[in-house]
Amino acid sequence: MIFNDQDKEKQMKKLTVMILMLITALWGWSAQQTRWVKGNTHAHSSNSDGNEVPRRVARWYRDYGYHFLVITDHDMITETDSLDADGNADDFILIPGEEITLYFQKYPAHVNALNPGRPIEAKAGQTLTETLQNGIDAARRAGAIPQLNHPNWKWSFGSEEMKDLRSVHLFELFNVNRDSNNFSAGGRPGAEELWDALLSKGLVFYAVASDDTHDYLGDFTPGKAYPGKGWVCARVAELSADAVCAALDKGDFYASTGVELADVQVTDREYRVTIKPYSDTAYTTLFIGRDGTILKKEDGLNAAYAFRGDELYVRAKVFASNGETAFCQPVFIKK
Ligand SMILES: [Zn+2]
Ligand SMILES: [Zn+2]
Repeated sequence: MIFNDQDKEKQMKKLTVMILMLITALWGWSAQQTRWVKGNTHAHSSNSDGNEVPRRVARWYRDYGYHFLVITDHDMITETDSLDADGNADDFILIPGEEITLYFQKYPAHVNALNPGRPIEAKAGQTLTETLQNGIDAARRAGAIPQLNHPNWKWSFGSEEMKDLRSVHLFELFNVNRDSNNFSAGGRPGAEELWDALLSKGLVFYAVASDDTHDYLGDFTPGKAYPGKGWVCARVAELSADAVCAALDKGDFYASTGVELADVQVTDREYRVTIKPYSDTAYTTLFIGRDGTILKKEDGLNAAYAFRGDELYVRAKVFASNGETAFCQPVFIKK
């Protein structure tokens, strides 16, 4: 075949266009690729009441397979830039944070600020709700995502105090500390009951599990808050503080006390959960709706629920024979 110069030019142009199209397609494809990254949004260092220096705190989480950690010392932002010198070269990032440590009377109204861009100023209000709102607003003003911590610690606040809060979606359903009273007993609602009460009012709250780590050096007594028992997995396109915090704030994550999920998929029609098996552990998934009603129960590693349309919201909870649990976030059903 013989090409004249004009043909050659045409061929070259065609080839250039094809290469450009391919690059655009690949770029779009890679930008949309997401993965699950594991992290803890609540940890203390020796800058407040944790018993280990920030560098060792970070190292524990990096060494045990986490992708991100928010160090949230009381009323201060622990400097993390120098601790995270590798950037995300090692597939681990530190996200700045602070636990805004306010009280109303004797009741704690602690709010974590995840990824603040500047120092935070907040003070207590006239009521517990107002005190929480002051913490939330202070976090937002600093460009951070707010997280309500340990509602049942000292039986401090519940759905009544939370129902009028604005600009907040994250709350701790599970906090490792022994005094957190995560579960329902003695006529008191656990954090899960509190969650369903709020969701049943149509309020958008997402459940977090966190270590609220204070103890890294062990005498291994039950009253200590060790790392590794409460975490979240967020779905992100890249491992960055902004991407992780955006995923948390919009509920694109699940909370866990040990159960690992391969995927969570929600379409217009159904809610689907796929579990990553551990050892010979057995699993059951509950799909839960209005007022905590169990809509469906399914055993095994794959569970799916087809929406009826009148549920108001649907969330999934996976529990394992070893006592570990994963909490998937609610989706509200549009009629
Ligand atoms: Zn606290
Ligand atoms: Zn704390």
